[in-house]
Amino acid sequence: MSATIIDGKAFAGTVREKVAGHVSRLKEEHGITPGLAVVLVGEDPASQVYVRSKGKMTVEVGMKSVEHMLDVETPEAELLALIDKLNNDPEIHGILVQLPLPKHLNEDLVINSIDPAKDVDGFHISNVGLLGTGQKSMVPCTPLGCLMMLRDHHGSLSGMDAVVIGRSNIVGKPMAQLLLGDSCTVTIAHSRTKDLADVVRRADIVVAAVGRPEMVPGDWIKEGATVIDVGINRIERDGKNKLVGDVDFDSCAARAGAITPVPGGVGPMTIACLLANTVTACCRANGLAEPEGLTA
Ligand code: NAP
Repeated sequence: MSATIIDGKAFAGTVREKVAGHVSRLKEEHGITPGLAVVLVGEDPASQVYVRSKGKMTVEVGMKSVEHMLDVETPEAELLALIDKLNNDPEIHGILVQLPLPKHLNEDLVINSIDPAKDVDGFHISNVGLLGTGQKSMVPCTPLGCLMMLRDHHGSLSGMDAVVIGRSNIVGKPMAQLLLGDSCTVTIAHSRTKDLADVVRRADIVVAAVGRPEMVPGDWIKEGATVIDVGINRIERDGKNKLVGDVDFDSCAARAGAITPVPGGVGPMTIACLLANTVTACCRANGLAEPEGLTA
């Protein structure tokens, strides 16, 4: 079998178009411009790239983008004061604090100081609880992007066996909750899982979020399964830098029914879902019907 490639780059483009359509309607019909504030503490080069590209895409869909670049030694009280200001700013509907934070800052405290209604990353403890209990929440962007692609490819996911490899708060756990919400039978695997190969072989859907280059070989994949590769790993091969996922693409694509590539799969969906979450948050804040198909 040769797998269908799930084109996350193209799909992210259609999500951004939908977001842009809602943004222009919000402006025309209600005089509201959704606003997203991104806060970066320090000068980590990868984070700077992410923040810039988030800002650029925010503006491209017609939203207001605000960037706060803070010194690496910013005291916690100063960061919390900025978040408080953004929480109370009616022109800001989404707040994202770029992680990881420098060591002297308490990440949990900082994230939980964001107004849950503006927590477009979906990491606030209230949103985690709401998602876990099947209530309306802000959904973390990367797993939301994976869910959108799975729904688009399969229609209903009901009754499918899903294995999520990785149990991080950012990807693995919320991914499992979303799949459960769509009535999959869900297994969460991690570094202590016994016989991981056998666990993965049962899966109709495999989501790999591990951070280990090409860890999942093709012979772990059931014929026809759908493979969603969340991993972004920079490796050197043949003297060149290369981005690879957590699954061995060629051998997995030979057995899977569908697979996301790296790059061009989950990655582009993450920022598209951040924009989708911001427009959803803006509609909720203004008591307006939220756009369909842009959240879980
Ligand atoms: P993380 O916090 O480091 O979590 C990794 C998970 O993988 C942990 O639960 C760990 O298990 C598990 N694991 C490690 N080695 C394993 C093994 N040999 N067998 C089975 N499980 C193993 O990573 P993350 O933040 O979830 O990110 C995972 C990957 O996704 C990374 O490559 C990251 O760059 C990428 N990512 C991509 C996007 C995107 O936009 N595409 C967004 C976020 C993350 P334990 O809990 O037992 O240690």
